[in-house]
Amino acid sequence: MAREGIQVKPARRAALRRALLAWYRVHHRKLPWRSARPDAYHVLVSEAMLQQTQVATVIAYYERFITAFPTVHDLAAADEQDVLRLWQGLGYYRRARHLHTAARAIVGQHGGTVPDDVESLLSLPGIGRYTAGAVASIAFGRRAPILDGNVARVLSRWFAIEGVIDDPAVRDELWRLAEELVPEESPGDFNQAMMELGATVCTPRSPLCLTCPVASMCRANELGIVDRLPTKRVKRKPTRVEYHAVAVERGGKFLFVQRPAKGLWAGMWQFPMAESLPPTGAVTGKVLQTWLKETHGITCASPRRVDELEHQTTHRTVGVTLWRASGKNTAKGGVWQSIDGAGELPVSRLQRRCAELVRGQ
Ligand code: SF4
Repeated sequence: MAREGIQVKPARRAALRRALLAWYRVHHRKLPWRSARPDAYHVLVSEAMLQQTQVATVIAYYERFITAFPTVHDLAAADEQDVLRLWQGLGYYRRARHLHTAARAIVGQHGGTVPDDVESLLSLPGIGRYTAGAVASIAFGRRAPILDGNVARVLSRWFAIEGVIDDPAVRDELWRLAEELVPEESPGDFNQAMMELGATVCTPRSPLCLTCPVASMCRANELGIVDRLPTKRVKRKPTRVEYHAVAVERGGKFLFVQRPAKGLWAGMWQFPMAESLPPTGAVTGKVLQTWLKETHGITCASPRRVDELEHQTTHRTVGVTLWRASGKNTAKGGVWQSIDGAGELPVSRLQRRCAELVRGQ
């Protein structure tokens, strides 16, 4: 368990703030969404993209997204499919949908101005405590805490918190510490400095304690337990599932169908994909032929098996058997696209891999 109610002496708090801010002002990375006067909409977009994704990956996506939707009005007016297309490959597509819905709420309910306080930000769809704190502190200079994976790791080491990092009591304690530490002056820089320290110095493996600006105030460093922290919950092995994707071709075009509006890869496009048939081996072309008819209303020749691939999602290992068939009639609710034209539809990384395998044949 965490040591509840860790008290931070005012002198230590001040020293931590001072050291961290001084380091950040010299060493922070220049990133396209960082500026002396950050734009709240830009901060909102970058924070949505940065959740679960590395900075290096986000930069190109962010620049493309802001070029396509330079203002919150542009994003609010955009078609969801265009938003998803610009997000494809970044994963966690729910973030894109939430950002889009939040933009619509900002335009519809706040006159197109991003709210400047945590409470109003939290009332926007899909905006959680972290994003609200980030936008309020970075864009508006509000004294609001943030806690993401980097900050949680840094705090757990500074204060030698040995409880499991995602245990609710430990999370509460970390939020409380983040709130206590964030200063009235430059709260946005301080929050970004904690994230930056976690990303570049206090890294999960091999943290650079020898050059760390707060090493002398870090309890885990003092106790020699840095490599044990933060304590992670023992992960369950990801569940393995077997899918069957069928590239149905007609006159040089392939059938793409849209996934339901909720759940994994919601609203994205894909080859017809059977997700609940028996494991590989028991599935034949005949079985898939019947399935295509019943599920998508398409008559086709018996599909032939062409390849296999494996794809990792957060909680699952997806084994995909890829099939190919010639279609004879038009499917209900799908679109026919050339394999190169698939890039015009929002598709998941898995579907892109399937399309590449088909293209390579
Ligand atoms: S001294 Fe090491 S463990 Fe402590 S904050 Fe710095 S890098 Fe992290």
